[in-house]
Amino acid sequence: MMKKELITPFKTTYNTPPFRIIQNEDFLPTIKEGIEMARKEIDGIVTNLESPSFENTIEALEFSGEQLDRISSIFFNLNSAETNEDIQKIAQEVSPLLSEFSNDITLNEDLFKRVKAVYDSKSELNLTTEQKTLLDKKYKGFSRNGANLHEDKKNKLREIDKKLSQLKLKFGENVLAETNKFEMLITNESDLAGLPEGTKEAAKQLAESKEKEGWLFTLDYPSYIPFVTYADNRELRKKLTLAAGSKAFKNDNLDNQENVLQITKLRHDRANLLGYKTHAHFVLEERMAETPETVLNFSNELLEKAKPAAKREFAALEKFAKELDNIDRLEKWDGSYYSEKLKQKLFSLDDEKLKPYFKLENVINGAFTIANKLFDLNFEEIDTIDKYHDEVLTYKVTNSKGDFVSVFYADFFPRAGKRNGAWMTSYKPQYIKDGENSRPHISIVCNFTKPTKSKPSLLTFNEVTTLFHEFGHALHGILANTTYPSLSGTSVYWDFVELPSQIMENWCFEKEALELFATHYETGEVIPMDLVEKIKESATFHEGMQTLRQLSFGLLDMSWHGQDPTDIKDVKAFEAEVFKNTTLYPETKETCMSTAFSHIFQGGYASGYYSYKWAEVLDADAFEYFKEAGIFNKTVANKFKDNVLSQGGTENPMTLYKRFRGQEPKPEALLRRAGLI
Ligand SMILES: [Zn+2]
Repeated sequence: MMKKELITPFKTTYNTPPFRIIQNEDFLPTIKEGIEMARKEIDGIVTNLESPSFENTIEALEFSGEQLDRISSIFFNLNSAETNEDIQKIAQEVSPLLSEFSNDITLNEDLFKRVKAVYDSKSELNLTTEQKTLLDKKYKGFSRNGANLHEDKKNKLREIDKKLSQLKLKFGENVLAETNKFEMLITNESDLAGLPEGTKEAAKQLAESKEKEGWLFTLDYPSYIPFVTYADNRELRKKLTLAAGSKAFKNDNLDNQENVLQITKLRHDRANLLGYKTHAHFVLEERMAETPETVLNFSNELLEKAKPAAKREFAALEKFAKELDNIDRLEKWDGSYYSEKLKQKLFSLDDEKLKPYFKLENVINGAFTIANKLFDLNFEEIDTIDKYHDEVLTYKVTNSKGDFVSVFYADFFPRAGKRNGAWMTSYKPQYIKDGENSRPHISIVCNFTKPTKSKPSLLTFNEVTTLFHEFGHALHGILANTTYPSLSGTSVYWDFVELPSQIMENWCFEKEALELFATHYETGEVIPMDLVEKIKESATFHEGMQTLRQLSFGLLDMSWHGQDPTDIKDVKAFEAEVFKNTTLYPETKETCMSTAFSHIFQGGYASGYYSYKWAEVLDADAFEYFKEAGIFNKTVANKFKDNVLSQGGTENPMTLYKRFRGQEPKPEALLRRAGLI
């Protein structure tokens, strides 16, 4: 049975989660009851005797399942930020229940009939733009899963989906098995020359844990990356690089070549079945870019502009390697090593020099001050709401009139139960119902340097930009102002969601902004500008080569998914042809990217890899608008708030962007910022 206190709205300040009384054993029954309540609401829509209308079908569907959403967001947020074995066990029970429930909705034919009836009469309905977007989204939730197909084709689709999920799983298992299989044991200490002490220590511990003598290196990033970046021994760097590059490409039982061909073929068939030309067309229908042509034009335009710079950088790197070690031909296993050496020589930027200027409290207050200058928000720390852990900071956010805008949670330090990385999430979405604007509960979770007995938490510059990045996502949530929860805040197309976060990072490089918070934690001195200049320069170091690399991955992704793959027989040959235009290093026949490209063959990035660069173009172009008018210019800030941050996914992102910027985004701002033109 569900505790009375766990029925929404919670009887707490601002209806925040009552963490104090939630026990782990409450989750399963509460989620089960939430599902039952949502099922009844759906049944109510289906059995409604009135003819289908926007209100009694689309809106009713949108607002169904509130109890379930509240409790499951609390549960999954905790599973990321404060988990334990109990919670993980419950997650294994809960996840299939939730996916079964959501499948039951998508496959509910009577429900779809009503949704379709509304959709087919949309031109007569006099809907607002937001309502049209919602109707479209709900309809596509069914149609993109085959609701419009005849029975035999529906079965075919289910068959494809089943096969695809098995193949994707197999693909991932092979990559993981290949990663775990490889070990490089070093017994001669001189082979460790160049490596940082911490890396050596970790390698020694790893060897000990496997009862081996010496230093053990693997293909896990924390082991692999430092080795190829710092190890002086070129032969060993080569060995490790080739091992990493040939994962699942050895013609053995862990080989992924056939899986790549089958996955792309099935995705293509699936798209055809649903009436799309290719898988890329299917995916991009729900993206800001809209079509494969746009993505290809975008990528090729950037490529053309970045390539001369990349070639110059490569030539300079080759010259540097020649001077330093008499290397005649720069190979793949030399890139990270000489890049790092050159970077040290040019910038000698030491994190330890910067950290005293970035005390955590100063940085977070700096972010608040900037949000105040731009968007009139006030952050006040409060202790009247429950926390899921003592370390969590809780804030009440208000506007200039003093109106309540949002609850904001900030959870900064690593703990045993917290996963790696940094992210923004929400405990409650924003929406307007029965004339009342129900405000959101937003949270950011990070893993920053902890304070010690003698020192406060002093952030690395990377941590500073991470904080601003997540704070940008948070502002997208905090300032949300839409009617429907599924279109609110960060619920936008995938290639648009990083604009609010990445744009905030730009303020970390500006003198006017740094003066507000980057002061020495002991002396109060503002960070010297020559240090800031160095940070800026080093941030764009080898940007040409980096850009080329990112674009090559995006183009490979689009090549696999933007055409009929039936005739592709040779994975490596196909890939080599795609890479021809973007490769700087000599070709290695032992390696293949596609067989271990988990982003697109296992995860959800298929036809979406371009989004990384796309988002950079957006944020650079948008920030240039601020720079032209002044980085705290109120007019530009208001336009950004009114047309982007508050609008969520209520309209096509390109329309929203153009309303803010007055024109479509152009790549020039990024190229300028990156020093490429
Ligand atoms: Zn992000």
